Amino acid sequence: MTDTRKFIYAFEDGDGKNKMLLGGKGANLCEMTQIGLNVPPGFVITTEACLTYLADPNDELPPGVMDEVREQMRNLEQKTGKAFGGASNPLLVSVRSGSAMSMPGMMDTILNLGLNIDTLKGLIAESGNDRFAYDAFRRFIQLFGKVALGVKDEAFDEEFDAVKDKAGVTADVNLSARDLREISDRFLEVIERETGHPFPEDPMEQLEIAIKAVFNSWSGKRAVDYRRQFNITPAMANGTAVNVVTMVFGNLGDDSATGVGFTRYPDTGENRMFGEYLTNAQGEDVVAGIRTPKSIDAMHDEMPDLYRELQELRSRLETHYKEVQDFEFTIEKGRLYCLQTRNGKMNTTALVRTSVEMVREGLMDKRQALLRIHPDMLEQLLFPRLDPGAKAKPLAKGLPASPGAAVGRAVFDADRAEQMGRTGERVILVREETKPEDIHGFFASQGILTSRGGKTSHAAVVARGMGKPCVAGAEGIVVDVHMRKAFIGDATISEGDILTIDGTSGNVYLGAVPMKAADFSGELETLLAWADEVARLKVMANADTPDDAARAVKFGAQGIGLCRTERMFNSQERLPVVVEMILAEDAPARQAALDKLLPIQRSDFKGMLKAMAPRPVTVRLLDPPIHEFLPTEQQLVDELDQLEHLRDTVLGMNVLSDTIEFMYRTADTHPQVTHLADPRLVDEAIERKRTMLQKVRALSEVNPMLGHRGVRLGITFPEIYAMQIRAVLEAAAECIKDGIEVHPEIMVPQVCTVQELCRVKQIVDSVKKAVESYYGVELNFKFGSMLEVVRACMRAESLAHEAEFFSFGTNDLTQAAFSFSREDAENKFLPMYNEKDILKDNPFEVLDVKGVGKLMSLAVDFGRRTRPDMKVGICGEHGGHPASIRFCHSIGLTYVSCSGPRVPIARLAAAHAALDETKRAGIQSM
Ligand code: ADP
Ligand code: MG
Ligand code: MG
Repeated sequence: MTDTRKFIYAFEDGDGKNKMLLGGKGANLCEMTQIGLNVPPGFVITTEACLTYLADPNDELPPGVMDEVREQMRNLEQKTGKAFGGASNPLLVSVRSGSAMSMPGMMDTILNLGLNIDTLKGLIAESGNDRFAYDAFRRFIQLFGKVALGVKDEAFDEEFDAVKDKAGVTADVNLSARDLREISDRFLEVIERETGHPFPEDPMEQLEIAIKAVFNSWSGKRAVDYRRQFNITPAMANGTAVNVVTMVFGNLGDDSATGVGFTRYPDTGENRMFGEYLTNAQGEDVVAGIRTPKSIDAMHDEMPDLYRELQELRSRLETHYKEVQDFEFTIEKGRLYCLQTRNGKMNTTALVRTSVEMVREGLMDKRQALLRIHPDMLEQLLFPRLDPGAKAKPLAKGLPASPGAAVGRAVFDADRAEQMGRTGERVILVREETKPEDIHGFFASQGILTSRGGKTSHAAVVARGMGKPCVAGAEGIVVDVHMRKAFIGDATISEGDILTIDGTSGNVYLGAVPMKAADFSGELETLLAWADEVARLKVMANADTPDDAARAVKFGAQGIGLCRTERMFNSQERLPVVVEMILAEDAPARQAALDKLLPIQRSDFKGMLKAMAPRPVTVRLLDPPIHEFLPTEQQLVDELDQLEHLRDTVLGMNVLSDTIEFMYRTADTHPQVTHLADPRLVDEAIERKRTMLQKVRALSEVNPMLGHRGVRLGITFPEIYAMQIRAVLEAAAECIKDGIEVHPEIMVPQVCTVQELCRVKQIVDSVKKAVESYYGVELNFKFGSMLEVVRACMRAESLAHEAEFFSFGTNDLTQAAFSFSREDAENKFLPMYNEKDILKDNPFEVLDVKGVGKLMSLAVDFGRRTRPDMKVGICGEHGGHPASIRFCHSIGLTYVSCSGPRVPIARLAAAHAALDETKRAGIQSM
């Protein structure tokens, strides 16, 4: 059977939307050509050709592909007037990789292909610049040798350095044409020596080898690791395309240049072209960070006409793609070419700002603006910054290449960074420059510091993509990888020394500098307000103190979904009262302690209600096992032991004192022996500790998490819940008296049967009556139940007769559904379960949709059978995770509640959930 698929498209013909087939680079080269931008002529060999080739046992390109390549090369010759393999005016091409997903630097590209001894003469004649020609040749031999023939860089570097030494120059730019010619000759020998074959002279043979090599780079280790790390599945990108592009030269003199640009600032989002360029240089020089490039702004004075053309290019790219673009350009003898464009990778600050501004400029709608930011990315905005008050003196300064600050131990290579990172150590990767093969070191590091390269160097681009702080091109630092040291002036950094880097300013500090959390820009508030408009889920916060509550409001919380009252008990001055309540022998004694706690709780609740007014505040009644407030048994036994000793000592001292009195009865003076203490005091202390020990023993449980806690406590000691309920309702009444609209909600934990709710409800009703008549106000609040017990989920229909709302406590519910105790699971077997793929994720971090989620969705349905408009929320840690939020949306929850700083993430995730749903329903605009 013959393969009738079309494997090759000229840039004029390829479908710019089909990135799966043509790769992102290829598709955009086609599209740019078709909208009339100046792209050097070329063609794309499809990803299907790549996959077919990779599957071929004989390592042959699919039949017909090379014929078609020859045909396309003839077309290029026509378009350019040059000859491939020609001894005069030779056509040179680049052979470039590019898959559907951008994987910067992960696959290979070969430049200047088509050069050999003959065409080299043609290039010299054509350019009139033999230095340029030999430079192109030696670059081609090395790149081709490395990528296509597998010859290591070191073999070339050795020869290169030898010639440099001989010529007595240190910078590459000072090498003469003769030096470069010698380098080329030596490189040809390297190829022959290392591969056993002479360098392939036939350009068409070079091209075929190069195409195969680029295809192979798809399955190279670097690319495979990268896809695994970023979860790039075959559905997202499958195979790389090959782009064969006519070479244009930015190194033909001072009217030539090469550079990269962003249509907006990728770190701030500012609406202004950002970029870097080098005059008289080839493209790879900018990216590799070999020379430190100039800011694009400098071109305004250096090449004003071209600067204007570049601005024109920038605006055409944005109006066409309606997204910030990251593009590569080359100027050959005054003519501007665009070599690549793709959607710009930006940090979150820039994404947020451009989202808001591009909506206002009419370039995108609100829906697109929201969907282009992954909710988790907002975490970047919570990154620590250096405390502005910190008085640290920077040791060195580089370029602020990726914002945020990081502290860690200096390490000088990626492998070590990975090793140390794995043990939980915080590290900063310090390199002269980074290369794609350092990628695993990035993952393990808190931040990256390089001594060479610009803001578009590999280190900078990759760090920004990962949202990790990076300082690049800190030229004051001399890195010696072999000695594992770096030198800055008189200072030395050894491996393991603690460094702080500030990717926002470019400063580098020795030691750990204090940090501060970031806050929110006006643009983020605007964006999140748009998110709230489309979201169906409300987002609440978990907060236990009035301060937390006030902070949650700043983050945009629409209420408090969980206030854990026991957190309020744990402060220094309150704990003794709580202990008194627990140790009370009878109801009156307990009541006396509770009477002391009442005003404390009331004022806490009042603070919370005020801070949140008029938003709802959900107060959970006391939940944890009560022995959590008492000392441990062992601690008490030890203390008792010491007290018993002390009692003997005290007695002994008193006996001694009496004896001395007796012995010196007749003398004028006698020695003094002090009374240590009244033995009765020690007895009393012992007595108290004994009581506490008895109590602790009585309260001790085999499995406290499943023991006497939550509503069970409330039922055995109703006066505790009564006090808490009174505190909430009195706080509300006082607020109402102050003219503040408040909406408290009382929530009962650990419920498994409606009978429990009935009991608590009775207390609520009677307290309500008392408070209303005392304050002369009418209280408006809700009474509800946690759902964190499997039985409660199954009996939700019945529970809903008493509960006006439900809130899933997914931590406990997950423990209950799996019969795992979280601590034991996470410490003992969960990692192994994940490794062996028995469980894909940790269910305590990622909501187990299939099991726990099923319970939840059943419970929602059951509950709403009784109470159709029932409010149902989630208040476990899962409530702040985008994937769980999507699920909560899908089963019709009313709200999610999460920790304050995750509220913005949850708001955006709630919007995404709603937008994805409308997308599925085929509705296109908001
Ligand atoms: P990457 O995916 O690593 O960016 P590219 O295929 O874009 O790889 O190429 C690497 C470098 O070579 C880039 O700077 C690019 O602009 C430059 N380059 C690629 N093709 C050409 C060409 N035909 N003429 C001039 N420079 C080129
Ligand atoms: Mg590129
Ligand atoms: Mg719980």
